[in-house]
Amino acid sequence: MKVFDLACEHGHAFEGWFASAEAFGEQLGRSLVHCPVCESANVRRTPSAPRLNLSNAPEARPSQPAPQAQGAQATAMPTEAQLRALWLEAARQLVRNTEDVGERFAEEARRIHYQEAPQRGIRGVTTAEQRAELEDEGIDVFSFPIPAAAEEPLQ
Ligand SMILES: [Zn+2]
Repeated sequence: MKVFDLACEHGHAFEGWFASAEAFGEQLGRSLVHCPVCESANVRRTPSAPRLNLSNAPEARPSQPAPQAQGAQATAMPTEAQLRALWLEAARQLVRNTEDVGERFAEEARRIHYQEAPQRGIRGVTTAEQRAELEDEGIDVFSFPIPAAAEEPLQ
């Protein structure tokens, strides 16, 4: 016996059992094969599920992500540890290239801006109010949280 996956013109899928492929062809030609749902004799063979799976298998492999693709993804999406390391490095650069003026930051930033003090990078603390005043005067200020580890002397 042969099992064929069949479908009628209305898309009803069903199985047909035949002695052979020839027997199926003959019965189909004589309109002896009917859809069990709508009785239509306009029936055709459809690819069987197992054959579909087999034909899809070789195509599935190339679409899987290659190791190179995974590496690129890792570069585009740094891990938390990598981000922390970048942040620490940036903070160290900042500490190395700025003078800590502490709570005199707003005053010192203003003096530098109006060229009353040597031009240099400074860091310190400001209140939100002081910061808003500096921005109103056109003085560039940005916040960067400095981890304690960045303040420690480099080895
Ligand atoms: Zn049908």
